[in-house]
Amino acid sequence: MCGIFGITFHKEAARLTYLGLYALQHRGEESAGIAVYNKKGVLFHKGMGLAGDVFNEESIGSLKGEIAIGHVRYSTTGSTHSRNIQPFLARHKKGNIAIAHNGNLTNTAYLHNMMEEKGSIFQTTMDSEIITHLIAANPIKDFKHSVVTALMQLRGAYSLILMLNDLLVGARDPFGFRPLCLGKLDNSYVLASETCALDLIQAEYIRDVEPGEVIFIKKDKIDSIKPFFGKNHALCIFEYVYFSRPDSNIFGENVYLTRKNLGRQLAREYSLDCDLVMPIPDSGSYAALGFAQEAGIPYEAGMIRNHYVGRTFIQPSQFIRDFRVKVKLNPVSEVLKGKRIMVIEDSIVRGTTCRARVETLRDAGAKEIHMGVSCPPITSPCFYGIDFPTRKELIAHNRSIEQIRDFIGLDSLHYLSLEGMLSAMPLSGKEFCTACFSGKYPDKVPRRFSKKVLERK
Ligand code: 5GP
Ligand code: MG
Repeated sequence: MCGIFGITFHKEAARLTYLGLYALQHRGEESAGIAVYNKKGVLFHKGMGLAGDVFNEESIGSLKGEIAIGHVRYSTTGSTHSRNIQPFLARHKKGNIAIAHNGNLTNTAYLHNMMEEKGSIFQTTMDSEIITHLIAANPIKDFKHSVVTALMQLRGAYSLILMLNDLLVGARDPFGFRPLCLGKLDNSYVLASETCALDLIQAEYIRDVEPGEVIFIKKDKIDSIKPFFGKNHALCIFEYVYFSRPDSNIFGENVYLTRKNLGRQLAREYSLDCDLVMPIPDSGSYAALGFAQEAGIPYEAGMIRNHYVGRTFIQPSQFIRDFRVKVKLNPVSEVLKGKRIMVIEDSIVRGTTCRARVETLRDAGAKEIHMGVSCPPITSPCFYGIDFPTRKELIAHNRSIEQIRDFIGLDSLHYLSLEGMLSAMPLSGKEFCTACFSGKYPDKVPRRFSKKVLERK
């Protein structure tokens, strides 16, 4: 997962991109980068860490140019390396290419091997670099033609922002797995993963870049083509469940309201006699609100989040049990003591943090702990960009609900049904990728990446 942003035809392009990344920080905390283009070429600044740590007044001030793109990267296992920070930059005979990519390609191994056979040299292990090679390899001088020819060869998920000299390009794969929206700020066009980035810079939301659409922006002129045809859409449903910010509109619909609807639907599926409903903050909060309202049970904040937990807190020695969990969320004993509680979680992946939190709630004196989860059991890995572990590590893979309940230490456990989840969505159920829940992948399940590429990842 990653967050991407781009703007053109604006004197403060780098500064606005920085703000955009700041708003998209939840989509990736591992690294951040910005590239700008001016007549002399491309300038960039990137580094490991949060956008606020990577950039300062000086670095932003040095990025002079009226067109900029930026990227925040989510750390996925095995690929934490400063070489892999985006935007990825390349120079070739047509000029400069910079790319910011969200999503996972599924034919990486094939393309990688094919291009290496032809003599390509790769600097990184990112699938995004392959895209720059494909663009550069096209003999036709026209950038638009090269971009489309390159995109035609990709399989899997991509929402892309490219900077090709002074041309800004936004593209979404034909399935539309990952979001990308278009906005306008005065005469400047803006591209961003989520609308919360437009809100911060007071840009007006125009529309989503459509699945399979490629948008070309030069100064204040915009042009769009749809070179792909005949595909179903497969919007990532997990963007609504967990990943996107609740104040964003994703695929044209609000995330907060959708999450609340998931909670409502959960309450329709299971009626429980409880004293209170509480979320595991923050991600479970909206579904918990919906659940409490639908069930008519009081909503309480039974756990309080410490908002200042960074990556660098000093670890105590072993004598504090579950320190990492406790430092982030502290239960309010006075609210929980002797109560039968319904805890709402947005999703369970490995089950390990859930288990630790439930134990903390028990220690705080809750009498009965029931859990509602605002999505179905996650049983299959994601090949399209959500960082779900292998099947083996997914708690719901090959385990019954009863086994999961027992592992987490609950009195009862209730997952939202797949049909219920789809019925709570603002868009038609047909438009979503639900592979992580259903095991039904919208495209051919990619063959395992070749050993060679896996080793390098
Ligand atoms: P688990 O109990 O499975 O270890 O963790 C569940 C928690 O992880 C939930 O609170 C959920 O909000 C969160 N979660 C779900 N998906 C992701 C993800 O892709 N990345 C991160 N960091 N957390 C996630
Ligand atoms: Mg959570």
